[in-house]
Amino acid sequence: MDTDVFYTDGLRFSCTQCSRCCRHDSGYVFLSKNDLNALTARLDLSRGAFIERYCVWAPAGLGHHLSLSEQENHDCVFWRDGGCSVYEDRPTQCRTYPFWEHIVADSTGWDRERRECPGIDIGRRHSFFEIRNDLAARVRNRPEHKEAR
Ligand code: SF4
Ligand code: SF4
Repeated sequence: MDTDVFYTDGLRFSCTQCSRCCRHDSGYVFLSKNDLNALTARLDLSRGAFIERYCVWAPAGLGHHLSLSEQENHDCVFWRDGGCSVYEDRPTQCRTYPFWEHIVADSTGWDRERRECPGIDIGRRHSFFEIRNDLAARVRNRPEHKEAR
């Protein structure tokens, strides 16, 4: 076990379903190839039709990353009737929150994130290995990218 990290005893997190991270604020929900495959299968759409209907290309470096689009009020395109309408197939970015590289890089990042999410430091303790699994899932699921032409 890597003993340099601050979460060797795990970290507590339970989503209160406040919806703050799915609604109201503008932001990107990036999609990996696996995310795209799961969502196109769920909605029975081709890759092209799905991207046209539900996605935007977000500027990233010299190219663009694929992201979910937003509704007019900045809710995620898949926020419907008080919840995530694709919950079982939600993207890796949503599935792994809050165990993201920059948030768990040190205790300061974790403490800072507490101001954004009321689920941090309450409820279930996620083990060191669960956190590492989420970080690894993020490495395996980098956003779909296209270079600028
Ligand atoms: S901000 Fe935190 S508690 Fe609220 S919905 Fe998102 S993950 Fe759950
Ligand atoms: S895909 Fe679902 S969980 Fe992810 S931001 Fe959109 S509504 Fe929230």
